Parts: sequence; C-alpha cells; structure tokens
Amino acid sequence: MHSAPAEIEAPAAGSGQAERPYRRRSGADRSQAIRSFVQFSFIALNLWIGVQFYHFVRQYEAGSTAVITRPPGVEGWLPIAGLMNTRYLFLTGNVPAIHPAAMFLLIAFLAASILFRKAFCSWLCPVGTLSEYLWKLGRDTFKRNFRLPKWLDIGLRSLKYVLFGLFAYAVVSMPAQAIAEFLGSPYGVVADVKMLNFFRYMGTAAAVTLAVLVIASIFVQNFWCRYLCPYGALMGLAALLSPLRIRRKVETCIDCAKCAKACPSRLPVDQLVQIRSAECLGCLECVAVCPVEDTLHMTFVPARKPVHAWIMAAGVAVVFLGVVGYAQASGHWHSAIPEWMYREFIPRVNEYAHPR
Ligand code: SF4
Ligand code: SF4
Repeated sequence: MHSAPAEIEAPAAGSGQAERPYRRRSGADRSQAIRSFVQFSFIALNLWIGVQFYHFVRQYEAGSTAVITRPPGVEGWLPIAGLMNTRYLFLTGNVPAIHPAAMFLLIAFLAASILFRKAFCSWLCPVGTLSEYLWKLGRDTFKRNFRLPKWLDIGLRSLKYVLFGLFAYAVVSMPAQAIAEFLGSPYGVVADVKMLNFFRYMGTAAAVTLAVLVIASIFVQNFWCRYLCPYGALMGLAALLSPLRIRRKVETCIDCAKCAKACPSRLPVDQLVQIRSAECLGCLECVAVCPVEDTLHMTFVPARKPVHAWIMAAGVAVVFLGVVGYAQASGHWHSAIPEWMYREFIPRVNEYAHPR
C-alpha cells in the first residue's frame, strides 16, 4: 500500500502500547482526501440537480413556456418510489414507467454497498456527508463527541431497522397493479415536487425536528445515520454480503486502539481480526490513523488483498455511472410523464393527498 521504506520505532513511554518496536507506516494516507473528493463531487451533483429541478418546477408554477427539462436524478430523493419500483420490476419483469430513475439509483446504491461496504453512506450520501461534518465540527469545537450509554445506543440503533422494516412491509404487501396506480396518480407523479416543497415551505414542526437533528448531530457522531435512517439500514444489510472487510493483522498490531477511537461507528476495530458489522461504513477512518505499516486494511477477503481508497472511489464511480449509463442507453432513465401532466399537476400540487 505504501512504497517508501518503513522506519522501526519504539513505543512511546506510558502509551499503553505493547512493549515491542514496530514498523512505522511511511507515506501519507490519502484515503480521507480521496473520500472527501468523492463526497463533495456528489454534493455538487445534487446541488446542480436541485437547482435545475427548482427552475423546472418554477416554470410551471409561473405558467411560462417550458424550456427547462426535469433532471431524473432528483428521484434519488424518492427512496420509497425506488423500493416500490424495484418490487414492480421483480414482480412483472418490466421497468416501471413513472420514476424509473428512483429504482436505478436504488440499485446502484445497493450495488455500491454490496461491493464496497455501505459505501453509499460514507462516500455518496449528501446527508451522510453533512452528518459527518457536523460531528467533526462538534468534536473540533468541544474537543469531544458525546457517547450515549451502551443500552441506549443499542436500543436507538435498532430504530432504523424497525423503520426500514415498516417501509419494506408496506411495499412488499403491494401488488404490481397497486404500485403502478399509486405512482401514476397525481400524487405519485408530483411526489418529487412535494419533496421540494417540503424544504421550500417547511412548517414549524418540521423545522424544529430538523433543528433538533442538526444539534444532535453536532454532539453525537452520525446521529441521524446511526439511529434513524431506514435507507442506511437497508445499505447496512446489503453490506453484510460484501467481500470487503476491514482486517487487522494481529501479529503486527501494537494495540494502540487508535483505530477504535477513530471509528465513527464505535466498532472495536482494535479487538477484532475482521469487521463484519452492518454498521461498518467503509469510511477507512480507522485505516487512515493506524500508525503501523501493513497492519490495518480494507481487504478483499477471498484473495486477502488490500483494497486502496482510490480503488473504492473508482469502483463506486463505475457502479454509479454504469447503472445510470445503462438506464440512459436503454431509454429507461426518464419518467414517461407527458408535459401536459406537469402543466396541470404542478400548480395544483397542494390539492393532491397521499392515496389511501
Ligand atoms: S471500522 Fe473502519 S471503515 Fe468501518 S466504520 Fe469504523 S472506521 Fe469506518
Ligand atoms: S490496528 Fe488499531 S490497535 Fe492495531 S496498531 Fe493499528 S490502530 Fe493500533
């Protein structure tokens, strides 16, 4: 992983490390710089999509000539539609007509998580990135992040799986016909506009909830992602299939526990040989801080080969662009929604309630 020769170093006095010399890692670790680049590229993409979608909606609200096209990538913010459409594809073998990009994006994110260990959460998700920078802000400001007691932590962590279970149950109990009718209804057609308006015209209750989540995220690492995000729960379950795992070489490890302290998921990296947990984000923070040469790696388990951060970055990009490219090339990326529907439905979006 690092090409420069490693130095032999004695453990620091009183450090608690094992009393044996170790090969200090040479060369700077670039994993976090590479990951940040991917995270901010994805945020930039989402901002571009958001701005274009806003102007798309505004032209119909203003009743002007439609010149701005709708960016299908906005459907990445419709995870329930993604689940419904994936079930529709599974049941019928046909690509759904309304919000197919939601399904393709869900498939891309699931594939990235299966291949690269919940990489969606720590490499792509804008909410995950925001969450991460909030707790880092809290840590830098208050010199620490707070840890909830173990019993509360475990109880809260199960919440996201419960929430995901409820959504999954609701979707799995829908037949294909019901899914097509739901997404083809005026409510389903403008579900993305409703999502935009949630942020544009946020009510007091939603604003207070959001503020509480932001404040909690400053003090507790990844508060939303760790305890509440059902999408993250799904990605974590998918990551259990991943051939990649953090692996620690017990023979060279000096038990400094820096990896465990750096882990935002509070995993006992310093005590295990492999990290199999669904909570492992694939963030490589533990790898970045390990001071010993060739001791802690993200590893392709079948071949026991280390996987460098740039391979993860390239792999995540190939999966994402590959799935989106396939959807575009096969003519399934855009919703089959005629222009007159947008002209009629968008100005009246508040009239459409969730179908029962
Ligand atoms: S074990 Fe390592 S890669 Fe997994 S979440 Fe913890 S710090 Fe990130
Ligand atoms: S694997 Fe963890 S405990 Fe072992 S040397 Fe690296 S950082 Fe320290």
